[in-house]
Amino acid sequence: MVRYKQVSDIAKIMKNVEQVRNIGTLAHVDHGKTTTSDSLLMGAGILSPKVAGQALALDYVEIEQLRQMTVKAANVSLYHEWEGKPYVINLVDTPGHIDFTSHVTRSLRMMDGGIVVVDAVEGVMTQTETVVRQALAEYVRPLLYINKVDRLIKELRLEPREIQQRFIEIVKEFNALIDLYADKEFRDKWKVDFAKGQVAFGSALHKWGLTVPIAMKKGVKFDYIVDAYLHDEKDKLAQDFPLYIALLDMVVEHIPNPREAQKYRVPKLWKGDLNSEIGKAMLECDPDGPTVVAVSKINIDPHAGHVATGRVFSGTVREGEEVYLLNAKDTARVLQVGIYMGPYREKIEEVSAGNIVAMLGLDKARAGETVVDSKYKDVMMPFEHLAYVAEPVVTVA
Ligand code: GDP
Repeated sequence: MVRYKQVSDIAKIMKNVEQVRNIGTLAHVDHGKTTTSDSLLMGAGILSPKVAGQALALDYVEIEQLRQMTVKAANVSLYHEWEGKPYVINLVDTPGHIDFTSHVTRSLRMMDGGIVVVDAVEGVMTQTETVVRQALAEYVRPLLYINKVDRLIKELRLEPREIQQRFIEIVKEFNALIDLYADKEFRDKWKVDFAKGQVAFGSALHKWGLTVPIAMKKGVKFDYIVDAYLHDEKDKLAQDFPLYIALLDMVVEHIPNPREAQKYRVPKLWKGDLNSEIGKAMLECDPDGPTVVAVSKINIDPHAGHVATGRVFSGTVREGEEVYLLNAKDTARVLQVGIYMGPYREKIEEVSAGNIVAMLGLDKARAGETVVDSKYKDVMMPFEHLAYVAEPVVTVA
């Protein structure tokens, strides 16, 4: 049994948007995006070993099932505690192969930060540059995770000092991209700093990871990690320094919460009037404002049917609410509202601004649709204009 958190626990956290983070993982092909996402899901969220021992009791089949579901999920919500406070971290689905399609833009619209996975041996590659540039174009803050550190030790046989040198080079290359592509407002603010815990390093394959602040707190040096590999004690690294903790601590501390992020993101992502009632509500991420949801993905659930997943930019989506689909030009009723618990969708009464919602009943919605409180249908400007065809194109789960 993998679920342990009650929907009511998660709902409570979600209402306080300061305790929500919307993120995704981004990477050059083969640098470890999938393996990193896996270790987040296995370690954190619904499987937190801190709350219950279930994570350890999961057998291979369950893990495989969970992974299958995760691959198809539009969003995976994780639970994480940082400095004694609970957080909900939404891990938004991002396309495996990065391209310039609207699919990428839509995923980025959902999130406020990204974990950019970089192979420690290969360093920053062409697609690393592409994903960082795309993230910055959408005002998504990229943080750095240097993966496959085991290769530096086992394959390249680097000394601790040389490993540190390699990290410094990668951080330099990464910050050069931020310098090149970030809006001037964020060019300095978003550069990553090892000492501040804005860079994590580790091995997703072996499930350990650290940031400098965590390493300092635990009193661990590079020699210890190198020794652990030399003495074949890498499992101890995973036990003592779980990767998900390093990554999620970094996310909670350095990715802005949805309210902070929407203040600067809404003016860039949406071309409507910022002084209008809707504009102001989206800037404030106001749960009492008019309902606005940007839909990122459509799934067909064998039991529930058409599921539209998106980010609530303003207001609170409630079961039974009448909404208008701006692109489909259709009035519809939200038949059911859901959130993600890990990759599972769970029914809930309402989902407020800054969160990711799954909605049933909006059968004409396609990925990219803007859903609005039907009272505002004539004044709302959509996030994007879709070329609408009679039969919606859907991704089938
Ligand atoms: P993606 O294409 O970015 O999603 O990369 P994957 O997660 O599929 O990983 C690509 C390959 O790198 C797979 O063979 C993984 O097992 C391997 N890999 C991922 N993380 C690590 C790591 O930390 N160390 C090592 N040695 N290999 C890794």
